[in-house]
Amino acid sequence: MSDFLQLAGKTFLVQGVANKKSVAWFIAKTLEEQGARVVYAVRSEARKKSLEALLAGKPVFLCDVEEEGACERLAVEVAAAGFAPLHGVVHSVAFANYSDGFKTFAETQRKDFLQASAISAFSLVELARALKPHLTPDASVVTIGISSLVVTPDNYGYMGPIKAALDSCARFLAKSFSADTAVRFNVVGSGPLKTSASAGIPGYLESYLYAEKMTYRKRALDTQEVANTAVFLLSPRSSGVNGTTLVVDAGLGANYFDKDIIRLAMRPETPASPEQSPSAKIQTPK
Ligand code: NAD
Repeated sequence: MSDFLQLAGKTFLVQGVANKKSVAWFIAKTLEEQGARVVYAVRSEARKKSLEALLAGKPVFLCDVEEEGACERLAVEVAAAGFAPLHGVVHSVAFANYSDGFKTFAETQRKDFLQASAISAFSLVELARALKPHLTPDASVVTIGISSLVVTPDNYGYMGPIKAALDSCARFLAKSFSADTAVRFNVVGSGPLKTSASAGIPGYLESYLYAEKMTYRKRALDTQEVANTAVFLLSPRSSGVNGTTLVVDAGLGANYFDKDIIRLAMRPETPASPEQSPSAKIQTPK
C-alpha cells in the first residue's frame, strides 16, 4: 500500500491531550494510524493519571507551560529518553480564565490576559526554541488557531487577540528558523468544535449551534477534519507550506449572507419555503 503522507516510522511530539475529544488526541491517533510514533506531553501528573487508560504503554512526559523552564526540561527529557530527533511537533494548548463568567473584552484583567498569553501563545515560542536542537532539519511544527482572527465574538473575549498573537508567533518562528534550518511552522485555523476547552467558554453551545447553521453544508466541523489537516501539515507532502494558516471551517467564515439565517433574523415568523430556499432544511446536530 502506498504511504502517501510518508509518516511511517517517524516520531512526533504531541502536546495537549486532555481527553478523547481533544484536537491533540485526534491528531495523535491519526499519526499513529499512519505508522508514526507519538510521544505525548501533558500538563500535569494528575492529567497523566487520568489519561492512563488512553495512553497506556505510550511515552508520556509532563510539561506545564505556565512554569518557566518547563519546555527546556521537556526537551532534555525527551532527548534523554531516546525519542530525538523529532520529525514534527504539535502544539495544541490553550487556557483562559472564564471562571467569573461572561465579561466584555474591555473588562479583561491584566493577570488573566498575561496568563492566557503565556500559556496559549508564547508557549509555542518556548517549545520551539527548546526543541530546536532535537528536530530533524526539515521538521514540521503545527499549532491550532482559530478560523478567523477578525471576528469579535463577545463570549470569546480576550482569547481573540491572544489567538492572533499565536498565529503571528508561528509566522515569526518560521522566519527565525529559516535562517539555519528547513523547519516549517503552520497553523490550522479551526472553526468551532466540541471539546473541553470550548465547553468552558460562556454561552458556547449556542455559538456552536449557530456556527453550524453558518457553514455552507449546514453540518458542524468534525474534530477529525481539523486533525487531518494538521497531519497533512506535519507530513512532507506539505513541504511548500510554511508560515501559513490553513483555515478549516466548512465555509463558515465566508457565509455572511446566508439566506436561511437572514430569513430567521429578519422574518422569523416566515417558515422556510423549500421552493424559495432549497437549502433551508437546516440540519440539527447529531
Ligand atoms: P482541550 O481542552 O482538549 O485541549 C487544551 C489543552 O491545553 C489541554 O490538554 C490542557 O491540558 C492544555 N493546557 C492548558 N493549560 C496548560 C498548561 N499550562 N500547560 C500545558 N498544557 C496546558 O481543547 P481543544 O479544543 O482540543 O484545544 C486544543 C487547541 O485547539 C487550543 O489551542 C484551542 O484554542 C484550539 N481550538 C479549539 C477550538 C474548539 O472549538 N475547541 C477551535 C479552534 C481552536
